[in-house]
Amino acid sequence: MFKLRSCAVAAILCLQPACNPSQNRDSIQPQPVSPAVKTSKVEAPAVFVTRHQVEKGSSIYQTLKSEGLNPQTILELVKAAKPILPLQDVASETAFELTWDGPERNTPLKLALRHAADSSLVIERNGPGLEWTASRIEHPITVVQKTFHGFVSNSLWESAEFVGMDPTLITSLAEVFAWQIDFNREVRRGDRWRLTVEQKLVDDKTIGWGNILVAEYENNGQVYTGIRFPAQGEKASYYFPNGQSLKRMFIKSPIKFGRITSGFSRSRFHPVLHVHRPHNGVDYGAPSGTPVMAVGSGTIESIGRKGGSGNMIKIRHNGTYSTAYLHLKGFATGLRKGSNVEQGQVIGYVGSTGLATGPHLHFAFYENGRYMDPLGLRFPSADPVAKNQLPKFNQLVQNALRTLPDWQLAQQDTPSGDKHPTDDTHTVLR
Ligand SMILES: [Zn+2]
Repeated sequence: MFKLRSCAVAAILCLQPACNPSQNRDSIQPQPVSPAVKTSKVEAPAVFVTRHQVEKGSSIYQTLKSEGLNPQTILELVKAAKPILPLQDVASETAFELTWDGPERNTPLKLALRHAADSSLVIERNGPGLEWTASRIEHPITVVQKTFHGFVSNSLWESAEFVGMDPTLITSLAEVFAWQIDFNREVRRGDRWRLTVEQKLVDDKTIGWGNILVAEYENNGQVYTGIRFPAQGEKASYYFPNGQSLKRMFIKSPIKFGRITSGFSRSRFHPVLHVHRPHNGVDYGAPSGTPVMAVGSGTIESIGRKGGSGNMIKIRHNGTYSTAYLHLKGFATGLRKGSNVEQGQVIGYVGSTGLATGPHLHFAFYENGRYMDPLGLRFPSADPVAKNQLPKFNQLVQNALRTLPDWQLAQQDTPSGDKHPTDDTHTVLR
């Protein structure tokens, strides 16, 4: 039914000279239309199509009015569209097309708009004065596999941006290895990575990303491989090819992308107090308001303002380990002493409360009440792939690894240091 409708649309539009079906399909996609060419006219023997865009901060009602539709016609369109899409819900800057009875633009016969990546609304009538009928055209989503690969000159973020990955996908990649690599301090020039991800397409255009199916990151010469198993489903997790889980008791950093401004040290010069004293934690520089995550699940032992520590949260993970997060701008809502938190849960935001020269997170890690440098400590892993699932998993591993691009390709993606200035705005993303 929808297919037929789709064909009918193409047939009408193709009465225009010098057009092809693929252009027509594009014409109702929400592409930005430059204001200068907001209305384009093509002479046509039978009908006349104009393209428009709901103006910024305006409504489709206003835009239709300024295109010459009379209030009565607009009301009829609103009424016809209502069961499918209330026209007042159409976002500003949505592109749409009007089909007229001729170049004089006396009578509109059709309104077509792409209100979502996978769905269009078409309201049409057979002639002046006739009833409008509205229908939805669904644009099927296809899922394909896409690979990316990169070579790190400065940061994972920069190398992934360089090869065209969007921020959500870069974050997903960092999340796969959150237990193995602290992307703030362990990334080295010369690291490389590759992955296979599900790409969601509508009409050959990317509308989003699905799961990363397999990813490899070579950090300082050591290769980590994460394979999603089962490939689908909410309970899926990442495993090494031998079936061991990548998940550990603690993720390696409480901040996804920041930068280390001061490491753990038994003695350092204090920037505010100007005395030598131990630095019992790791400082992560990041913009004020950056989310701070609990590195492991546990119970909040204390939360509140505490002298030079500023706003601080301390979490007890078990009888042995605790962590503390200092100088926070504020806490995530709903948290109090005794609250349970999950690994990776946002508990607060980077700030500069207490004794701090600027916004940063001071992160402290305790083993049996003693300060420890978390780097280099090894923690127990989550459960491996169940024995009875191993044959299935091993098969998946073989297939997944075959989808990865060659390492040699990653080598070629070197962003030149000169072409990518490491300005401050870039630095904070690392
Ligand atoms: Zn510190």
